[in-house]
Amino acid sequence: MTQWLTGQRDDPAERAHRVVAASLRAAYAWTVRRQRRDAMREVARMTGVVMEAHGPGRGPVTPLELVDRLRQRLGRMPALAANMDETIAQAVLLDGEDRLTTDAYDLACEYALPLGEPAESVPWMPTWTRMRADRIRGETFKALIDNRNQASYVASRRFLIEHPAAALSELRQLVSETGMSLPPGGYTDIPADHVHRSPGGERWWWPCAFCRWPMSVTRTTVRCRYGPHAAVYQLAEGRTARSRPKLSRVDEGRPRRLALPVARPADDSRCVDFGVWRFVVVPGASELRIERDLKGLGATVELWPDLDRYDLRVQVGEHEFRIDVKEYRSAHRLIADLRARTPAARILLPMTHEHQLGTLRTAMPSLQVTTETKFLTEVRRARSAR
Ligand SMILES: [Zn+2]
Repeated sequence: MTQWLTGQRDDPAERAHRVVAASLRAAYAWTVRRQRRDAMREVARMTGVVMEAHGPGRGPVTPLELVDRLRQRLGRMPALAANMDETIAQAVLLDGEDRLTTDAYDLACEYALPLGEPAESVPWMPTWTRMRADRIRGETFKALIDNRNQASYVASRRFLIEHPAAALSELRQLVSETGMSLPPGGYTDIPADHVHRSPGGERWWWPCAFCRWPMSVTRTTVRCRYGPHAAVYQLAEGRTARSRPKLSRVDEGRPRRLALPVARPADDSRCVDFGVWRFVVVPGASELRIERDLKGLGATVELWPDLDRYDLRVQVGEHEFRIDVKEYRSAHRLIADLRARTPAARILLPMTHEHQLGTLRTAMPSLQVTTETKFLTEVRRARSAR
């Protein structure tokens, strides 16, 4: 049975998961209600899902009541008040101007679920609001597995991670030179809220220093939608109305000496869609960083072996290590997914997620788990013991 079907059973954790998934969809639909005629019907449908999960006499009962709840902490909904992920209970999905918040993009998207309808009935709802993350990953990878050839699969997946956004001419040239397979939907326009319009009318975007996808632009603040890529920039217009705007870094985070991203023209640029970026490119950027560091230590590294049974096969002399990198914003979602499917390798928490180690060990004492820092030390030791 598929996982989302088991999600329909009457279990408080599953019900809570459905409430978060329906809230995310309703929040997205609300933000596009002026452009999409059937957006309000979607908000109403999601109100039904939230009502069903709560049972009679609890929780919001009209679409507008639900929307009002989306402007408050999710934990105020009765189904999410207890036994729930604390980070999601604190999350708010709509801001004061009824735009999707960072929490919605960054955290709630890990809770997306199909909620019973055929996907064709709401083709305008983006995949990341209605599809499980592993399904988005699965569909992307299926398209990259060409004749079950491991080498071309690895090359195509690496290409996607290294080039999640670029000028159209550059992409065309790279694809024709390398013969890469592209994900379903390929590359699309840079989303409007990731673009800055100069007084002269030129449109610009900036790649994130960590993942290379276009950063979001809110008035003069520019930052990656993914929280752990935490650098925050302030934009200033160029010298003339038509010249290139510039960024300056305004956060205190690390690394301090990060090269400043340079504005690129948006009109002839394209990027992968949000779902592919968030669930393939973001974890992929960590996987490639870990691969590079391990190779720097003299290890032999194979990425996504046996057409993605796990993430990294690492060889140091006689020692072989099998590693699955898990990068979830919600430790709660990570634990639920690990319980639903036994991992095929040792779990590694990347640098930005090492704080989840204690939670994971407490919840799953028999799980094989390490962190990026600990694992690099282990590989260094194995190398010096040779
Ligand atoms: Zn980023």
